[in-house]
Amino acid sequence: MKTISLIGSTGSIGVQTLDVCRQHNIKVAALAAHRNVKLLEEQAREFNPKLVCIYDEGLYSDLRDRLSDVSVKILCGMEGLCENAAMDADLFVNSVVGMVGLLPTLTAIEHGRDIALANKETLVAGGHLVMSAVERKGLKIYPIDSEHSAIFQCLQGNRREQLNKIILTASGGPFFGKKKTELKNVTPEQALKHPNWSMGNKITIDSATLMNKGLEFIEAKWLFEVAPENIEIVVNRESVIHSAVEYKDFSVLAQMGVPDMKIPIQYALLYPERVECDVKPLSLTDYGTLTFAKPDLETFDCLAGCIEAIKLGGAYPCIVNAVNEEAVGLFMSRKIPFLKIGELVQAALRDFPKMPAESYEDIKNAELAAREYVKDNT
Ligand code: MG
Repeated sequence: MKTISLIGSTGSIGVQTLDVCRQHNIKVAALAAHRNVKLLEEQAREFNPKLVCIYDEGLYSDLRDRLSDVSVKILCGMEGLCENAAMDADLFVNSVVGMVGLLPTLTAIEHGRDIALANKETLVAGGHLVMSAVERKGLKIYPIDSEHSAIFQCLQGNRREQLNKIILTASGGPFFGKKKTELKNVTPEQALKHPNWSMGNKITIDSATLMNKGLEFIEAKWLFEVAPENIEIVVNRESVIHSAVEYKDFSVLAQMGVPDMKIPIQYALLYPERVECDVKPLSLTDYGTLTFAKPDLETFDCLAGCIEAIKLGGAYPCIVNAVNEEAVGLFMSRKIPFLKIGELVQAALRDFPKMPAESYEDIKNAELAAREYVKDNT
C-alpha cells in the first residue's frame, strides 16, 4: 500500500487528491492546509494521519482544540509544512498555491522523497535549484499540472533525444479573443468565470491573464529540460488536448481526456499504473470539433513577460511570479484594475537588474524585492 504526505489538502487539488486516495486505498501520513480548519479537521478524522499542520499560525489553537480527542501531532506555519515534507512516505504531494511551496519541496528532496507536484511556483521560482537537487538525489518529480502530466505521458516509451518540441496547450481563458480596450473594466467576478476548468481563485485569475500559461511555460522548461525556443503554446479552446510533443519524424503525440484534474492526479499518485478513474470518458464525437489558435501575446502581456523572463534567466522568473502574486491579491481586493497585473509584470522586467537564483537565499531576496516593488508602484 502506498503512503503520501500532502500539503494544500483543503484546496481544489488537495481535495481531489484525497478522493483519489479514498478510491485507491492510498494511506495519508500527513496533511497540511492554509486556513480551512474545519475541513482539515474532517480530513484528519477520516484519514488518520500522524501529523496535521495549519499554515496560518493564528488558527493553531483552534485546530488543537478541534482535534483534542485525536492522537495526532499538530503543527503550524512553515515549520509544519517542512515537517510534513520530511515525513516518511512514498510520495510528497505539494498542492499549495504560491512560492510558499518552494521550501517544503526542497525539504522533501533533502529527505529523499519523490514528489508529485501541483505547485507550479516551486519550479518557476527555484527551477535550477530544485532540478539540480532532484538529480543529485536521484529522485523523481511527477507533474500534476494537466499540461505537464500530458507531456510526461507523451514522453513515456520514447527517446528524449529524439524530441523536437513541446506543444503546450492553453484554453485561452475567459477573455480569449478580447483586446486590451475591452478588458479595462474587468471585475474579479468576471475573471473568476473559467470556461472549462474549476480551480482555486489564484489560478483562475492567472488563467484569465494567461499568467498561468506563462508559469507553465517556465515549469515545462525545467521539468523536461527543453529550451524556451522549443516550446510552442497553442490554444485549444475545448481543453481536450492537454498538451502534445513532436518527435524528429514530425510525429505528434498528444494526451487527451475530459478536463478533469483527477486523471493527472491519479497518474502522478499511481504511476505507472493506469486503472479506472472517477471521471467521464472522453467522447470525441460529442465534442465534434476541436479548435486551435495562436496565443495573443500583445493583449496578454503576463504570458509574454514569463516567456521573456525565462529567456533572460537568473531571478527574472521568480520576480515576475512574485510581482504577479502581489498584483493578483491587489486585483482581488479591487485595489488595482485587471490590466495593471500585466503592466506590473512588464515594468518589473524593465526595472530589475539581473539577479542570481542559485540558492534559496537568492530566490528569497528576489522575491522580497519584487513584492516591495509592487507596493512602491501601486
Ligand atoms: Mg495547467
